[in-house]
Amino acid sequence: MSELRYDGQVVVVTGAGGGLGKAYALFFGSRGASVVVNDLGGSFKGEGNSTKAADVIVDEIKAAGGKAVANYNSVTDGDKIIETAIQTYGRIDILINNAGILRDISFKNLSDKDWDLIIDVHVKGSYKCARAAWPHFRKQKYGRVINTASAAGLFGSFGQTNYSAAKLAMVGFTETLAKEGAKYNILANVIAPIAASRMTETVMPADILENLKPDWVVPLVAVLVHKDSQESGSIYEVGGGHVAKLRWERASGLLLKADDTYTPGALLKQWDQISNFNGAEHPTGPADFLALLDKSMKMSPGDK
Ligand code: NAD
Repeated sequence: MSELRYDGQVVVVTGAGGGLGKAYALFFGSRGASVVVNDLGGSFKGEGNSTKAADVIVDEIKAAGGKAVANYNSVTDGDKIIETAIQTYGRIDILINNAGILRDISFKNLSDKDWDLIIDVHVKGSYKCARAAWPHFRKQKYGRVINTASAAGLFGSFGQTNYSAAKLAMVGFTETLAKEGAKYNILANVIAPIAASRMTETVMPADILENLKPDWVVPLVAVLVHKDSQESGSIYEVGGGHVAKLRWERASGLLLKADDTYTPGALLKQWDQISNFNGAEHPTGPADFLALLDKSMKMSPGDK
């Protein structure tokens, strides 16, 4: 199989000064794409800023014969990042919403500032970049988006209420972008990565981190944003050589006649049925409430 290439395409990678973003930027720079290397250059807690983080990566891509330009804006000013792509290269094909920070603290001690900053960088930042790229994607009938969630968002994680909320938001955001983008060949997928970076170096043992190179998240992203991909609206966990798709599961559930026999007691009587996953489905949309309502209306009281 020949290697996947991105010649003539423009990729914006946010937070590309280190960790996963750096790995994406170097990869696309080495496979023919022009790369906008965005990084605010602050600490992993979101303090300070510097142009150095992005500049170093741009220099590395150029030294290897690739094309890259730096952008130092915060993702909360995502329109300026996309503007750098348009002004420098005249287009944008791929957006990788990757920038992120942490403000871990138990919920008891969480301040409004810790909450707002995390929601701002992850949720508003991803929104601002995608929103600014969207008209270009629609016009050219082509676009690829990767959003970045986290296992903390999918499953919860002690001390990370702010981060979990922001990261699960990326799932809903992606699922809807995929639906709205389908008509225009705009594909959007979301990954929950795991990789050694400054974000994880203080919370994971060194021997584990050694086996979690950011480079090992890159192949999945490379496939998902390639022009030949058809995949959209999907969620993946990826890291250390492992890639797995996740999906929602809905129990077949309990359906009672919706009249005055439908009481808390009636519900309790068949409580187990609500979480009986035998015969479960894997929905990609909300329950068909009209069909359920119709079925419920036709039931006799006490029917299942
Ligand atoms: P990292 O700290 O190495 O990289 C994040 C980069 O984003 C940094 O270079 C930082 O300067 C930049 N950044 C932060 N705020 C920014 C802003 N407002 N505007 C522009 N750039 C900004 O961390 P990483 O581990 O590479 O994380 C990358 C993404 O993956 C993040 O969204 C993170 O939440 C997510 N993630 C990482 C892991 C993991 O195991 N490393 C796990 C789950 C999710």
